[in-house]
Amino acid sequence: MNLKQGTCNFKCVSDCAGRCCGGATIITIDEIAKLYGVFPITVGFRNYAPVDEGHEAFLEAVGSSSGKSFIVGDFIAGNWRKGRCSQLAADNRCKLHVEGRKPYQCSIVPFCAVYPEERQDAVFASQRQKAFRQCGGYMTYHETEDAVWKSGRFVQPDYAEAFRRFRSGMLRQAGFMRTILVELKKQSVFSSFLRGNGILEAAIPAYLLFDLLDAAGLASGSREDFIRVQRDLCTRELQSSGKHVAVFEDCIVTFKTVQASVL
Ligand code: SF4
Ligand code: SF4
Repeated sequence: MNLKQGTCNFKCVSDCAGRCCGGATIITIDEIAKLYGVFPITVGFRNYAPVDEGHEAFLEAVGSSSGKSFIVGDFIAGNWRKGRCSQLAADNRCKLHVEGRKPYQCSIVPFCAVYPEERQDAVFASQRQKAFRQCGGYMTYHETEDAVWKSGRFVQPDYAEAFRRFRSGMLRQAGFMRTILVELKKQSVFSSFLRGNGILEAAIPAYLLFDLLDAAGLASGSREDFIRVQRDLCTRELQSSGKHVAVFEDCIVTFKTVQASVL
């Protein structure tokens, strides 16, 4: 990494993926159709303070204001309570990468698409101090063939494309997230969320499910399959965790409700 020259050098070495591929990742509405068969999908909200005017404009477009910060929602794929992603093979390689359907956010780590492209150097440095402190992918400034971000732009096309697609998905899903947040604000979990720095996670509400799946590009003929598969995945998470995980129980209630009323 050579932040003085405005360059972030990074090369994922994969064999240490056990350090970064925890139990869940985040995805956008545009990835639901290709990933609902492998991950239980819930919604998650986080609080972001804008770092500059451009960031504030984006957060305003994708989130809901909350004092000086913004609450932004995305889709959580998997179970973050677990230490290892279900799609990480025994050789520490991502099965979805091999299949060409790796989530966009996973394709841009340790960068983050919620922040502006021109501020990714700060994200990169901050991640190294926090979640990615044991990551072996940070290269020195001598290793210039591994430059990923330079002078405010991603210079490797796969990063640039995944970054663009993630942000585009966030814009497309913003209306759904705001609607869900309005309901969550009425619940007691919301005040605990505001007091902490964590994630506010919830099931996709039954009344929004089909509209959301339509917007996600899922054919109406696949709705039944979505509900059956997601119900099975949530049940499996509950069984393997062996404890009460409210969000998966809520998901199952949602799917039962929809199955009983529509299908
Ligand atoms: S820890 Fe870093 S280098 Fe290792 S797999 Fe994860 S992102 Fe790649
Ligand atoms: S989907 Fe792949 S890259 Fe993403 S967390 Fe899981 S194993 Fe890692």
